[in-house]
Amino acid sequence: MSNVSKLNWSGGFVIDFSLINGISKSAPSTKRRLSQMADMYADTGAAQKMIAGGDPLVYEFYELGVPEEAGEIAFGTSITYPGKVGNEYFMTKGHFHTVLDTAEVYYTLSGIGFMLTENPEGDVALHALEPGKAVYVPKRYAHRSINAGTTPLISFFAFRGDAGHNYGTIETKGYRKLVVEGSDGKPCMIDNPKWGK
Ligand code: MN
Repeated sequence: MSNVSKLNWSGGFVIDFSLINGISKSAPSTKRRLSQMADMYADTGAAQKMIAGGDPLVYEFYELGVPEEAGEIAFGTSITYPGKVGNEYFMTKGHFHTVLDTAEVYYTLSGIGFMLTENPEGDVALHALEPGKAVYVPKRYAHRSINAGTTPLISFFAFRGDAGHNYGTIETKGYRKLVVEGSDGKPCMIDNPKWGK
């Protein structure tokens, strides 16, 4: 199934990024269901009901197995599915890079939503993810994709190959802010009641 081992990282290659015939056939995806991140959502009761009702797939991403070496560029596709837990939009876990001084670029292919970023000092920013627009996530900022629409949010990402992922900090402390659907039906950012707990 996986053709990733055939990619010629030292000689170069071309890869089809169409999800139907391209990357999905070349690379295995990593899948995250709600049960794997239930505590990250503010409404624990709503999350548990959804898990009991079928445990929806929240997001998945395709990586190509780049050599984890300085000078390489890791790239792939991230898909965050539409949905909400209570009034909180489906989102990725979010992560810092193990090499904290590592930036990343996300280019939205389809769907709409946000990239929520925060650094260890607590500076928070919310960037729009829209087709045809690129987001630059600066070094030292954790980043999380949030689907605020009704179709899958699909983006292309690229960052240095030896940066690694640090999920633990977010899994332990959470994000300072959450993005929810407000009473007017529009997305809004609120304080995370679970932050630091
Ligand atoms: Mn990243």
